[in-house]
Amino acid sequence: MAFEGLTERLQNAIGKLRKKGKVTESDVREMMREVRLALLEADVNFTVVKDFVKQVRERAVGAEVLESLTPAQQIVKIVNDELTKTMGEAAVPLNKAPHIPTIIMMVGLQGAGKTTTAGKLANYLIKNEKARPLLIAADVYRPAAVDQLKTIGQQLNVPVFDMGTDHDPVEIVKQGMIQADLQKNDYVIIDTAGRLQIDEKLMTELADIEAEVQPNEILLTVDAMTGQAATEVAKGFNERLNITGVVLTKLDGDTRGGAALSIRAVTGKPIKFTGQGEKLDQLDVFYPDRMANRILGMGDMMSLIEKAQNDFDEKQAAAMAEKIKENSFDFNDFLDQMDQIQKMGPLDEIMKMIPGVANNPAMKNMNISPKEMDHIKAIVYSMTPAEREEPKILNASRKRRLAAGSGRPIQEVNRMIKQFDMSSKMMQQMSKGNMSGMEGLFGN
Ligand code: GDP
Repeated sequence: MAFEGLTERLQNAIGKLRKKGKVTESDVREMMREVRLALLEADVNFTVVKDFVKQVRERAVGAEVLESLTPAQQIVKIVNDELTKTMGEAAVPLNKAPHIPTIIMMVGLQGAGKTTTAGKLANYLIKNEKARPLLIAADVYRPAAVDQLKTIGQQLNVPVFDMGTDHDPVEIVKQGMIQADLQKNDYVIIDTAGRLQIDEKLMTELADIEAEVQPNEILLTVDAMTGQAATEVAKGFNERLNITGVVLTKLDGDTRGGAALSIRAVTGKPIKFTGQGEKLDQLDVFYPDRMANRILGMGDMMSLIEKAQNDFDEKQAAAMAEKIKENSFDFNDFLDQMDQIQKMGPLDEIMKMIPGVANNPAMKNMNISPKEMDHIKAIVYSMTPAEREEPKILNASRKRRLAAGSGRPIQEVNRMIKQFDMSSKMMQQMSKGNMSGMEGLFGN
């Protein structure tokens, strides 16, 4: 999982402070030494680490922090703030042209995820703006690149302009722009060639395309897995092209954090999107504050909320909340809720976004498979309507019947009902505004 080592080390460093009644300046210094090592080990650029540590230390040793009743919490907040600042404060939206089409040029090294991201971006624009993008295949060196883009275009039902691999990329882009004007496309996304390393010929070609079409956005795709090397690549591209933003790909992998934390500070260019998988809908807007939360292991609560809002039926959710309040949440509601959760995607992905869960060792290997969900459902389906509505009547003989009916062992039936009881009690507490379950974060 991304940032795992960094998160663990930051939590350890901060956790030590929490165990102390009073935090002194030397405690803060000790903590910052560990934070510094954690960042360097995560492959964060040295200068970025130096600045970060300085900022946090200056704020943390202030009297109002150390003398407060909750110094450790305040320091968590400072670390969180400074991580956010390092990555750029707020999300930076895509640049738009005053007249259509808005031209987006994708650049990056080979294998960084340029072609995939061009497709993801088209998909994003269609979903969010009902856009009508045109993709232009201007990578004539990697023969498969044109076909790859065409396949992506077919999947998304987006037109792809190509002239094969025998023409000059600048000419291809010129012709593609004519087609976009004719078809009144509102976005043009240009996929360009990459190389294994930055080379002069490539840079000249990209600079020529830039001069020809003057893109509104030149998005550099970099592979998060390459750590600090990604920062060097970004510097190199930025010297020759007017890079306007960065897409950090492969954040679903085992990346240490170096790229995410260094790029903005080193190049001054904002990360605008992140790639979270190979599928065409796995592109997310980059929010520095949410990324800071994720790095600190506080889960990506905002993303979770947004996802829930997108996927959940609001009316149903409101009805559910009402039932929880009235303490009439039953197994029918439970089934509905499970369906909603299953709609949101793989459960372990969702769990990772909940604070405290992401780095809770007990949860690390947790993986509720669709099969287990189906088992739980089978048990509920074996209940009579009365049992579903009044879980309290489930006595031992009824439970045995459920086991037989669902084909699941009796222990599993017992465990499931117990969990249901516990979660309805917890939900009730939470609906009364008691969030005590959340306070355990960071081992308080
Ligand atoms: P290009 O050479 O820069 O055009 O790179 P491609 O778009 O062909 O991507 C190279 C490989 O990385 C492909 O196998 C993609 O499926 C994969 N890839 C791209 N973005 C992501 C991502 O966000 N996560 C993961 N796991 N794989 C990605």
